[in-house]
Amino acid sequence: MTEPTTTAEAIKRALGITHAPPGEEVRCVVAHPAAGGPCKRIAVPEVYGLPLCKAHGEEAEASALAELDEAIGFYLAAATPAVGSDDVLYAGSALGEALERVLRDRPRFCGAPTDNEGVSEELTTAAYPFAEELLDERTKTWTWDEPTYPYGMHPVDYWNERRWLFLRMMRMVYQWTPRDLLRDLELMCEEAVAQRGFASKLSADGCW
Ligand SMILES: [Zn+2]
Repeated sequence: MTEPTTTAEAIKRALGITHAPPGEEVRCVVAHPAAGGPCKRIAVPEVYGLPLCKAHGEEAEASALAELDEAIGFYLAAATPAVGSDDVLYAGSALGEALERVLRDRPRFCGAPTDNEGVSEELTTAAYPFAEELLDERTKTWTWDEPTYPYGMHPVDYWNERRWLFLRMMRMVYQWTPRDLLRDLELMCEEAVAQRGFASKLSADGCW
């Protein structure tokens, strides 16, 4: 059985914001043609267990934090009117507070005046420097008159939607493994399951 950890530590681990990747001389995994092909730089951090160089790692970590921040807010907002119990609110705010502490240590990443969905332009540009030849053809030729993206979306919105989709999927896939945070949630779940059973029995016994 693992040692209990604070919620903030559990979130860090769930995010994959760990230390150096295992072994020496591990190369950054970024390799997409839009990134200019294989990165080849030495990996420094891991995000979602993926070794990344400094520039790609900082952008990836900031994006992961911003996505988690939004996801927590989204689920809280969705759950509150429907359930509204103190326990649900407590679980949500505990997660939110823990995440805030993580973000506070990284003011350069998130919440800056240049904030672009939680990631500064500086970090994005450092990780993915602009190059005309890397531009998507549709982005290059985009006009309002002839929308080439779904629903006539602006290219910025279109690519951002895709980015959020993949960030969300990465978090969900990564988190589908046992983590310490699950133990806290499991305890709350156990209570809910037990109480549901009790209530069901009372109802069947005609107590209400
Ligand atoms: Zn890299």
